[in-house]
Amino acid sequence: MDLGIKGRRALVTAASRGLGYAIARKLYEEGADVAICARQEGPLREAAERIQAEAGQTRAGTEREGGRILAVAADVARLDDINRLLDEVQRGLGPVDILVANAGGPPPGPFSALGEEAWRQGLEQNLLSTIRLARGVVEGMKARRWGRIIALTSIGAKRPLPDLMVSNTARAGVLGFIKSLANELGPYQVTANVVCPGYTRTDRLVELAKARAAAAGISPEDVYRSWIHHIPLGRLGRPEELADAVAFLASERASYITGVVLQVDGGWVESLY
Ligand code: NAD
Repeated sequence: MDLGIKGRRALVTAASRGLGYAIARKLYEEGADVAICARQEGPLREAAERIQAEAGQTRAGTEREGGRILAVAADVARLDDINRLLDEVQRGLGPVDILVANAGGPPPGPFSALGEEAWRQGLEQNLLSTIRLARGVVEGMKARRWGRIIALTSIGAKRPLPDLMVSNTARAGVLGFIKSLANELGPYQVTANVVCPGYTRTDRLVELAKARAAAAGISPEDVYRSWIHHIPLGRLGRPEELADAVAFLASERASYITGVVLQVDGGWVESLY
């Protein structure tokens, strides 16, 4: 299926590795011009080079289409960085057609362990960032009567996860924001949707498994087994599987899908809604 996004301009935040990287790579493979950001210049540049190299291999033997990539170091927890990022993307690629709002996870912990700073940092990084990024792109999307806004959250938005209170709260806020935005943007043929990743084998998840294993005196494999036990598909997700779902929502083909919350979790969320 041709996703119909060749030449569209995409901004994927927090994309030097993990889910953001997989999404940026997929959109680039599909022929979109892609801007990526992360806080550190070095890993970000390497990611941009890897995306170009890997996409070149994927497309070997086929005509090379689209394919500008722009890397801008920026921390999405900071308003001034977001404004600078949006300016540089506008100058470097042009107006954003596809926004994928992603960020690193917020500070973990139960309520008793979370102070003002943890809440401020988490809400800026995982809720306000989505709102601020959207604010920077929606007027142009409305004027062009085409746009895709996709917010990455977590299955914790559907079923709160233990010891991730800031995440659970910020993600739920994103669901409320995106649903409201979808209603407002509908008349302009601009869609807004949420994707909730489940346990997906990124560097971060591997690090988390190692840390939990060390704390509990068990092996990382035991930690994986404890997670997989609750996943009907019986395995962790792959970043590419998440990226495929996001790319579809970003595509021309998803033109009648807006305001939805899509879990990509192997069935982990048990409820109907
Ligand atoms: P990761 O640590 O592998 O990658 C995170 C990326 O975000 C890196 O490129 C990092 O440099 C960048 N980043 C972090 N904070 C940033 C900031 N403030 N500004 C700009 N860039 C920033 O993590 P991941 O596994 O890809 O997770 C991405 C998001 O998805 C996180 O919010 C995470 O909580 C959420 N999530 C992940 C999983 C999973 O299983 N991997 C499951 C549910 C939710």
